[in-house]
Formats: sequence, C-alpha cells, structure tokens
Amino acid sequence: MGIDAGFDMDPPLSKGGVDKQNWGRFIDLIKEQYKDDVQVEIMPNYIKFNVGENPKLPFEGHKFLRFSSKVSGAIASSSGVERYINTVTRVAKAHFGSRVQYWNEGANQYGVHDWKKVSESIRSYEQPDVLETQASITPPLSATDPVKEQGIALFEIQDIPGKGRGLVARFNISKGTRIICEKPLLTAGPMPPNKLEPFLAKAIKAMSKTSQRQFLSLHNNSKGKHPFGGIFRTNALPCGSGSPIGGVYPTACFINHSCIPNAHNNWNSAEKHETIYAIRSIERGAEITIPYDHGGASRERQVFLKDAFGFKCDCSCCSLPPDLLKASDNRRIQIQSLDKAIGDPFRMMSSPHDSLSDCYLMLQVLEQEFDGCASAMIARLYYDAFQISIAHGDQARASMFAERASKARVICEGEDSPETLRVKSLAVKPADHSSFEVYSRKWQTTRDSVPKDLDTVQFDKWLFRQEN
Ligand SMILES: [Zn+2]
Repeated sequence: MGIDAGFDMDPPLSKGGVDKQNWGRFIDLIKEQYKDDVQVEIMPNYIKFNVGENPKLPFEGHKFLRFSSKVSGAIASSSGVERYINTVTRVAKAHFGSRVQYWNEGANQYGVHDWKKVSESIRSYEQPDVLETQASITPPLSATDPVKEQGIALFEIQDIPGKGRGLVARFNISKGTRIICEKPLLTAGPMPPNKLEPFLAKAIKAMSKTSQRQFLSLHNNSKGKHPFGGIFRTNALPCGSGSPIGGVYPTACFINHSCIPNAHNNWNSAEKHETIYAIRSIERGAEITIPYDHGGASRERQVFLKDAFGFKCDCSCCSLPPDLLKASDNRRIQIQSLDKAIGDPFRMMSSPHDSLSDCYLMLQVLEQEFDGCASAMIARLYYDAFQISIAHGDQARASMFAERASKARVICEGEDSPETLRVKSLAVKPADHSSFEVYSRKWQTTRDSVPKDLDTVQFDKWLFRQEN
C-alpha cells in the first residue's frame, strides 16, 4: 500500500493572464533546478519525475490539479521521491501561495480534488491544447496541399526572402515535438546522371498525380539536361546518417538550412519514414531549419554549402559580429578535433580516461555553441562515452551514459526511433553490447553501483571520472 503525499492546486489555474505567466516562470524554475538531474525528464508537453509514481508537471498550467506520489513502500523509498515532492511544493508555494495545498496521508491529510478528475487531468497532458486550437483555425486545405498529409500542421510553407520557400511555425512549438513525419515520394541510390534520369522518370510516372505535382514543384538548383536528377540532387535527404540512398519528401524538402538549427531530421529505418523534431522551442512565425552542413568553422561550412547547394548561408551563426564569429569558429574547430580524438579506438583502448575527459569537455563546448540544444550530437557523444566505459567493463557508468543518450535521442527522433530503443535497452543491460570488456576489465563495476548521494555536479564528475 504505502501513503500518498503531494499538493493540489485549488482553485485550478486559468488558461491565460497572470496564472499562465506565473506557471511559465514556475516551470522554467523547475527545469533549471533539475537540469542536470537524470531522474527528471523534459517531455514534449510536461516534466516527468522518474521517481516514485512518476509525478508530472504539465506545460499547460490550467490542466494541473495535483503533484503527488506514494512516499512510502518499495517504489518510494529507493528513489527519494519525498525530497522531490517537498522541493516542488516549496517552489510552487512561492509562486501560487495558498492555492498550493500540501497534504500527506501519513498526517491524515488528503487532497481536495477527486482522483478520477486528477487522472483525467494527467492524461490530458499528453495532448496539448494548442493542437485543438489549431484544428479549429486551420483553413481548409486543398487536395494538392502537401500539408494535408500531416493531419495537423504546425507549420506553413511560405516564401522566405532570399531563400525561396521554407517552413514557418504557425504556433509556438516546444522542444521535442514531432513536426513532420512523412514517407518519401521516391528514393534512389548513387548512380551516374544518365542512369538516374530514366530511373527517376520511371518512378515519377508510377506516382499519383498529386505526388507528381509535389515532386515537380520542388526547387532545382542545377537546371540542365537532367531536370529530374536536378530536383533529386537539390532536395534529397539521406535515408540514415551517411547513407548513400536519398529520399525526396513532399514537405520536409522545403526546410531550409541553418548552422544553428532548431529542428532535426531523421530517417526511421523501421517505419521507413522521415521525421522532423523540434530540438529547441520554436516561436510562432519563426522559420523551421535543419543542418545541411558537416560542421567545421564558418568558412568551411560556406564553401561546402555553396558547392553542394548553391547558396551563401546568412544564418544567425554565420552573421555574428567578427569577434563572436571567431569564438564560434574556435568552438566548432574544437568540436571537430575532440570528435576525432574521442572516436580513436586505440586511445579508447590504451587511455580511456583521456577519451572520457574529452567527452566531458566536448559536452560543455557543444552546450555552449548550440545554446543547450545539440540533441543529436549530444546523443552521439553520450553513446561514445557509453562505449568507452563498457569496453573496460564499467557497467554503472555505461548504463547512465546509455540512459542520457536515449533521452537526447527522444528529443530529436522520438520514442519510436530504432536508435532510441536500442540505447534505452543498453541502459538496462549494458553488458549486452558487443564491446563489453573487449579492452579490459580495469573499470569493472556492476549496474547497481551508481552512487545515490551525490549532487548533480559531483555526479557528473563521478560519471566522467573527473574526481581529481
Ligand atoms: Zn550558417
């Protein structure tokens, strides 16, 4: 059984005005408070505390009635849930005063709302109201409109000065939201232009009229004797990182580039579709962007973008004033060299401590350069740290790294991406990885030896072996 404790919001908050502002500030504070806490997860629509019975705080305050969990019994005592309840209650009280009503069944106190209503409110966190608003104000779309394929469109296709068409957010989109999920109009592997052209012609002929129109309406930056190939080369997104196969999509292909993008594109190999996720919060009216570049300093990126796509990038990073651009360039160069050093298998084998120290440094540089929004690179970095640890038998750290990698993957690829699922399972069973103890057993630990009494800074130092 066990006893419950927590707090109720009574009366509940209203949808707008001061309540909305206060809730926004409260949520920001909670995020800040727990930003390095691996037990606290930022989901697309709420904050989830992976302790006790996983209490949640929705981003939409008017839905919120109760924050509570069992605070005694098996699930509660191992996770320290009561500490979280107490802290969140204290912060909430500071924002909402007597509307925050703390209760504890151990002291014969009970919440004011009934459980049925509370469960309904918690279920409603999953589906943000913004989508309801959207459905009602979305103008009817014509049959040829690619947006229609998405069901509910968070964006619209607009002319962007100097860039042709692009995608613009119609609503505020929160980090971790799936913006697009679509199947390719066609895919093709690498082949010479004279082979690609008839291949594409055949594929286009077999398409529906709508798909044909969608394909032919895409931009072509290399007009010549191979018009289909030109469209393909201008627009194709790789089906997987580094894959030679490219896919062309009705909507995702309109997304322009930024060196400091707010969205991430990913090919889901299990579902055979492309997804676009918001990797930072995107304000209504802002352009949605993904990276086309392969990193490096601004000059290197500009040369690549000009050669491969025929444009000069004037994103917010490339147009920084000279001194700030120089600092950004230095960070990007450092990211490249750290990435290379971390990926060196010989160093991983002979001096894993140095490799792990580089991961620690890289994490900080990435956070700084991408303003805390480098999900895909951070996911990869944590996975590198996982590999370094598991190759020397350290299951405790490996499982923590895999857990962090999976959280970063969820933001940029979603819960159902094969990579998310793979790293998630490694967090539970790190020793299942093929490189378990392949280099040595010198760091041998078991999964249950993760320290529980460290604060977040100390925990990170332990995790990256930076204690001394
Ligand atoms: Zn740029």
